[in-house]
Amino acid sequence: MQRPRARAPVLIPVGRFFGVPLYFTPSWVLVATLITIMYAAAIRDRLEGASTAAAYAGGAGFALALALCLLAHELGHVSVSLALGKRVRRVVIMFLAGMSEIEDEIARARDECLIAVAGPIVSALLAGILFALAPLASGSELAHLIVLLLAWSNLVLAAFNLLPGLPLDGGRMLRAAVWGATHSQRIGSRVAGWAGLALAILVAAGSVALSVRIADVATALLGVLLGVFIWAGAGQVLRVTALTDRLAVVRLPDLLRPGLFVRADTPLGEALRRTREVGARGIVVLDGAERPQAIVDEAAARRVSDERLAWTPVAQVARPIEPGMILPDTLSADELIGAIRRTPASEYLVVHADGGPAGILAAADLATVLSARRR
Ligand SMILES: [Zn+2]
Repeated sequence: MQRPRARAPVLIPVGRFFGVPLYFTPSWVLVATLITIMYAAAIRDRLEGASTAAAYAGGAGFALALALCLLAHELGHVSVSLALGKRVRRVVIMFLAGMSEIEDEIARARDECLIAVAGPIVSALLAGILFALAPLASGSELAHLIVLLLAWSNLVLAAFNLLPGLPLDGGRMLRAAVWGATHSQRIGSRVAGWAGLALAILVAAGSVALSVRIADVATALLGVLLGVFIWAGAGQVLRVTALTDRLAVVRLPDLLRPGLFVRADTPLGEALRRTREVGARGIVVLDGAERPQAIVDEAAARRVSDERLAWTPVAQVARPIEPGMILPDTLSADELIGAIRRTPASEYLVVHADGGPAGILAAADLATVLSARRR
């Protein structure tokens, strides 16, 4: 399970919302540039008097305003999450979509539904406000056109996100509905995930058919891109669901190795001999007050040559125990994976509720169990 930490992608910070950091991805800058160019051309087609500079300014203004509308949609999700007491790690606006990363588990179908519906509600409200404001901008043809375009974009954003398949908001609402009806979040995820795959094909195929009909390549391109985006998101949900299914049958006590407890100055050779004698499979180093202070790193111990075993104290090949390396033996499989992800190590000390040692968990053992169940 000790996979290297994923390299963090470069993000552009744009501010905070009730302490939640907001970011744009660099890919969004690329998309905004494309939108600017496409809409500048469209503006020049529609408005004969528009200068090139005004058309590009209009296109850029539209791209930026569209991003703010996308952000407002995400802040709808964030507001409800925060109101329900869920922590939100960050909001990332990327290529064609935004993502609000909610840290806490959503334990109730009703909460999932409320958080999901909040985004489309914000988009629909924005569409309504912009349609109402459009007449006020009729003094400038360009401003009027852009306000109307934004209003339509928000309406499309609301409607599209309500399509019933993950990873769209409508898919989360479908998951909540199935979850509520069956009392199983997993069944909900599976149904909404498969619905997402079907939706991806429908969106891609539908937009290709439409583009042939109206002879417009851009429609097909956009539709296929959205299809790929939905397919990837739905596939991800189904993979995670399959993994949690396997985790559900993993019990921490079954994975524990019995440990040998030795003083820091014990030679590694002697510790290994005693380990074999008592059938232990991990070595915990104690401090002067008999408290566990470090765990011998199996790989580091193997690298010590035979002739040096008698002269190498165990402390030299042990990793000091950080708070995150002591795990209660009551952790569920999900909590266990979370704990390992927060503090990656090769060995962990597992303790009973009274603080007494229960054994040693080797990350490699957990990885073996998980990959064995995959087959
Ligand atoms: Zn949304």
